[in-house]
Amino acid sequence: GLFVVGSFVAACCVEVDALPEAGETLSARSFSMEPGGKGFNLAVAARRLGAEVGGLFAVGDDDLARLAPPAFERAGLSPELLRRKAGPTGGGVGFIAADGETCLAVASGANAALSAEDVRSCAKAIDGAAICLAQFESPDAPVLEAFSIARRAGRFTLLNPSPFRPMSDALLAVTSALCVNRTEARALATSLDAAGDDLEALAQAAFAKGPDALVVTLGGRGALAFRRGEPTIEQSAFPVVAVDALGAGDGFAAALATSLAEGRGWEAAMRRAAAAGALTATIRGTFDAFPNDDALDRLVRA
Ligand code: ADP
Repeated sequence: GLFVVGSFVAACCVEVDALPEAGETLSARSFSMEPGGKGFNLAVAARRLGAEVGGLFAVGDDDLARLAPPAFERAGLSPELLRRKAGPTGGGVGFIAADGETCLAVASGANAALSAEDVRSCAKAIDGAAICLAQFESPDAPVLEAFSIARRAGRFTLLNPSPFRPMSDALLAVTSALCVNRTEARALATSLDAAGDDLEALAQAAFAKGPDALVVTLGGRGALAFRRGEPTIEQSAFPVVAVDALGAGDGFAAALATSLAEGRGWEAAMRRAAAAGALTATIRGTFDAFPNDDALDRLVRA
């Protein structure tokens, strides 16, 4: 199974003809709110693919916190993975324009209060999971603690550093694999003093800090997996009619982790991950967009 160092966010989505400019008030085409957050999305996507998913998530003590337990139930995740913190629940607003352009802002709220001590209370679950997954809507301390526990137990750790911030050497030392999109790859290159456009050089710079693998997703152009001492995997994208790429990266990372945890090799895992990212892009939003195992098998075999 997997253990997810989670984030939970009430995600508002506003559909507009064109993105608003500073000072502008627009009529929107629609407004919706769904349970989200990168950690929650990873957990939902992995669970839908049949993985056993444990983890740790924080909500606040406000009205929005009430969204979480039913959302966890609906996803087949235990509400016992939730911790309640003083203050507001994490929240975000995204604008989607008719041409597909988006802009997005997220306040971390209770996610920022997740601590290393919270993580230590889950040490058994982390020990028992084949892969520990984390993202950067959570602070450094719980991610570092979870990865340290996982690696001491000989487990694999996968970090999606999104939204991007530079990683400490201590965190990189306990990270088995990094999964980034093109934008995050550029930021990672800057933080590691590597050449911006040379992904092979970036991979070598990352390997020097600890990780054995660097996965770079390229949207509709597929994804690359660089591994220490192994040939690079160039995974092409599955041709689909994309309606919005929201959650594609989360669907990809969740499928990669789930497939590796199932003992599939890297080639098969990358193929399944690309298929999951593609399928996620064919359905609007996130929660309902993540594919199940049957849909994934159908596309992978097609
Ligand atoms: P993020 O959402 O983190 O920016 P990407 O946009 O790179 O991530 O998407 C993640 C993966 O999902 C890609 O590597 C690709 O395999 C798949 N994907 C995303 N958009 C499309 C698309 N339009 N067509 C096919 N596959 C896609």
